[in-house]
Amino acid sequence: MTTSALERFLRYVAINTRSDEASTSCPSTPGQLTMLRLLVNELGELGLIDITMDEHGYVMATVPATTTKQHVPVIGFIAHVDTSPEMPGHDVKPIVHRGYDGRDLVLPDDPSAVLRAVDDPALAAHTGHDIVTASGLTLLGADDKAGVAAIMAAAEYLLRHPEIPHGTIRVGFTPDEEIGRGANHFDVGRFGAICAYTVDGGGAGEVEWESFAADAMTVTFKGFNTHPGYAKNRMVNAIKLAAAFMARLPKDRLSPETTDGYEGYVHPYVLDASVERTSVKLLIRDFSTTGLEEKEAMVEQLAREVVAGQPRASVEIRIAESYRNMRDILEGYPEVVEFAREAIRRSGLTPVERPIRGGTDGSRLSFMGLPTPNIFAGEHNFHSRLEWVSAQDMDKAVETIVNLCQVWEERQGS
Ligand SMILES: [Zn+2]
Repeated sequence: MTTSALERFLRYVAINTRSDEASTSCPSTPGQLTMLRLLVNELGELGLIDITMDEHGYVMATVPATTTKQHVPVIGFIAHVDTSPEMPGHDVKPIVHRGYDGRDLVLPDDPSAVLRAVDDPALAAHTGHDIVTASGLTLLGADDKAGVAAIMAAAEYLLRHPEIPHGTIRVGFTPDEEIGRGANHFDVGRFGAICAYTVDGGGAGEVEWESFAADAMTVTFKGFNTHPGYAKNRMVNAIKLAAAFMARLPKDRLSPETTDGYEGYVHPYVLDASVERTSVKLLIRDFSTTGLEEKEAMVEQLAREVVAGQPRASVEIRIAESYRNMRDILEGYPEVVEFAREAIRRSGLTPVERPIRGGTDGSRLSFMGLPTPNIFAGEHNFHSRLEWVSAQDMDKAVETIVNLCQVWEERQGS
């Protein structure tokens, strides 16, 4: 008897693993350690080997190779255990709506939380499926416990079916992806795979290998403060400088609210204002590093225009790299994505490829030496209390992982 991805999933969502940006520890919250320890136990019961948990909570384990071929590369599968800090993650009460018939799904703990097929084409396409939701007050946590469950179920399947030839398969479970720290302590050398797949995507069939390239920019205007009653010809108000700067930003383009697809943006999101000194934090996003630099040059130019001709005003620009487009790396390893497409097709699905308008741990890992695209786990409505996942899609994720292990063995062994 194997345990279905659904059974595992329902067990995992009961653990509160909401991450916390304010915390400086790793994992950022103790609930994540509870879940990571549970996974260590389950991996042991399943019969994986080399099971480790490091001092930061990162769990790694191995499904031993079954192939008789030499030189089959080691590949890995990775999922994160934390859930978004944006929404409550405690006392999650998952509800399985068996054989979804297209009707409105009213979540019982808050009847204003309703999933409607008319508003949600992905849901409309899932009639007949067993749909899992939360009860209206919390996240479900399908992001990314659906991925954890799929990897665990696939590992179990491979161990129960030693007749399926595959190379060494590494499994990794990480904390704090939702607060952007998931790759921070990931030991690529110890993981020892030539590539990996995060299992943290949306609808069945998705494979994502392009992400934003991202920087954080801080534009700080310095003015001059003095008693406002005696400020004539002396005061320079940094708040007004910042306001003039923001008024110059394009209004009909280059913003989150006016872009999609492959378009990048410039997004002021935090203002720290005083007369003497006002800083504007901006997120800069594009799909190419060159495009990112062009946007940063534009922002700098607009900021400098504002202080030009004002000798007592000045501006300071700081840029910090957030992450880069994983495509820059993955283009050098076309087989990594191609084998994922093949595995998806073997699962009876059509590969769906879309640029991620965000980053994943894979964006960072790819640049740390582990090429890591993202494959679907069946998640929908990320970071919302209307989050849902289909049990059948999770099974397809399991199947796709198993297929991927076989494709690598067929194509790369000798
Ligand atoms: Zn995720």
